[in-house]
Amino acid sequence: MSSYAMLINGKSVTTSDQDPVINPAFGESFAAVPRASKAHIDEAMEAAALAFRTWRKDEAFRRQKLNECAAAIQSRVHDIANVLSQEQGKPLSAAMGEVFGASMWFSYFANLQIEPEILQDDGEKRIRIVRKPLGVVAAILPWNFPVILLSWKLAPAFLAGNTVVAKPSPYTPITSLMVADILRDILPAGVLNVVSGGNDLGALMTAHPVPRKISFTGSVGTGKKIMAAAADDLKRVTLELGGNDPAIVLDDANPDQVADGLFWSAFQNSGQVCTAVKRLYVHEKVYQPIVDRLIERAKTVRVGNGLYPETQLGPINNEMQLNKVMSLVEDARQNGAKVQTGGCRLESSGYFYPPTIVTEAREGMRLVDEEQFGTALPIIKYKHVDDALEQANRTHFGLGGSIWTSDLQRGEALAQELDSGTGWVNHHMDILPFTPFGGAKWSGIGCENGPWGYKEFTAMQVVNVKK
Ligand code: NAD
Repeated sequence: MSSYAMLINGKSVTTSDQDPVINPAFGESFAAVPRASKAHIDEAMEAAALAFRTWRKDEAFRRQKLNECAAAIQSRVHDIANVLSQEQGKPLSAAMGEVFGASMWFSYFANLQIEPEILQDDGEKRIRIVRKPLGVVAAILPWNFPVILLSWKLAPAFLAGNTVVAKPSPYTPITSLMVADILRDILPAGVLNVVSGGNDLGALMTAHPVPRKISFTGSVGTGKKIMAAAADDLKRVTLELGGNDPAIVLDDANPDQVADGLFWSAFQNSGQVCTAVKRLYVHEKVYQPIVDRLIERAKTVRVGNGLYPETQLGPINNEMQLNKVMSLVEDARQNGAKVQTGGCRLESSGYFYPPTIVTEAREGMRLVDEEQFGTALPIIKYKHVDDALEQANRTHFGLGGSIWTSDLQRGEALAQELDSGTGWVNHHMDILPFTPFGGAKWSGIGCENGPWGYKEFTAMQVVNVKK
C-alpha cells in the first residue's frame, strides 16, 4: 500500500498514526496518509508565520513562483489525475481536466493585473488604497474537487503575499499531499504547509491563534461552525458552502437542444458538484419530452470505475454520502414521487448509484428541499414561471441557478430574479478563473476567483498624503 507525507516547513513529514484512504469504486482502502497531531499544526502555523515575513515582500518573485507552480502541476497531470480518480471516484478524463484546471488557475493568478485604486490625486492630496496580505491563511477543503479547489485558495493567497496551512478532506487527502510534494522545491519553506487528518484537525486550525483568515469550502453545517470558531479572534472568513441549485426550463425551450446540457449539469461528477442542478423545474408544455430525454440518457450513461476508459460516471465518493442520497430518494418515493430510473445501489462493493430521475417531485420532499449531492434529480412540473421562481428562491441556499429558453433576453431577465451568486442561461456550472464565484444566503460569504477573490486575501489600507 502506498503511503504519502505531509509538507511542513519545507520538509516531508510522516507519522506512525496513519488513516486509510478508501477507493470508492471498491469500498476498500488503497493507501494511507499521516494523521497530524496538535504539535504538527503548531509547527506548520509557526513555519507559515515565519515564512510570511519574507514572502510578503516581493510580488515579482511570487508571480514567478506561481508560474513555476502552474508548470510543475501541468507536467504531472497524469500522475495526479490517476490518484484523484482512485480517491475521489471521478472518471480519469475528468480528473485530468481538474488537474489541468488547477494549473490554469495558478497561471491566471500569476498574471492577474491588479488595477491601482487611486481615490484622489490632485494638487491638494494623493489618496490611494494599498492591498496588503493578511498573514497565515488556514485553507480547509472538501472531497468533490480536491485539486482544483486547492488551487482556488493557494494561487490568490500567494499572489497577495500570504502563506498557507491547508487541510484536505479526510476522504481525498492524497492529491493535496502530492501537489504539496510537487511544489516543495518551488516554494520557500513554510509558504505552503499541507497537513492531513480528520475533522478535529480542521477545528484545531480554526481555533489556532496564528491564522488571520480561514478560507473554507464545504458544507453549510461546517461553515457555521467555522464562522463561530473565527468570531472570538475576529479571523476573516471566506465560506464557499453547499447549494441546492434550481434550473428552470421555460415553455419555449427546445427539448432536443437542452436535454444534454440539463443532464450533465445535474450528473457531472456524479452530481457531487456544489453548483450541480439539484432541482429541475419544467414547464408543463415541455415537461414530458424533457423527462423522456433525461430518462433515455440516464439509462444509457456508463457507470463504473473511474479508471476504466468507457466510464462516464464514477461512484459516490463515500458510504455516508451514498446512504444520504439513497435515503432522500426513498423518502421521495414514500411521499408519492415516481422513481423513473436507478433508485437502488448497484450490486458491488463500490459506492455506485446509477443516475436516478425522480418525477412528480415537489417542495416539502427532502430530495427537493435538501442538498442531495449525488446521482439523483427531482423534477417538478410548473404552470406559471412566477411560481417556479418563487419555489426556486424559497430556500436558505443561493449558490447558482439557471434558466433554459430559446429567448435569451427573457432568460437573462429571469436569471436576475434568482437569489443566487450566479445565474446562468442555457447552461450551468460554468466557472472561470476571472468570474467571481460565491453564494448568496446560506451558500456562502465572500467569493473566490478574479480580482474579487484576490482581494479577499488582502487587507485594505488607505494611504492619504497631503501635498
Ligand atoms: P464538510 O463540511 O463535511 O467538510 C469540509 C472540510 O471541513 C473537510 O476538510 C472536513 O474535514 C472539514 N471540517 C469538518 N468539520 C470541521 C470543523 N468543525 N472545523 C473545521 N473544519 C472541519 O463538507 P464535504 O462533505 O467535504 O463537502 C461537500 C459539501 O461542500 C457540499 O455541501 C458542497 O456543496 C460543498 N461545496 C461547496 C463548494 C463551493 O464552492 N460553494 C464547492 C465544493 C463543495
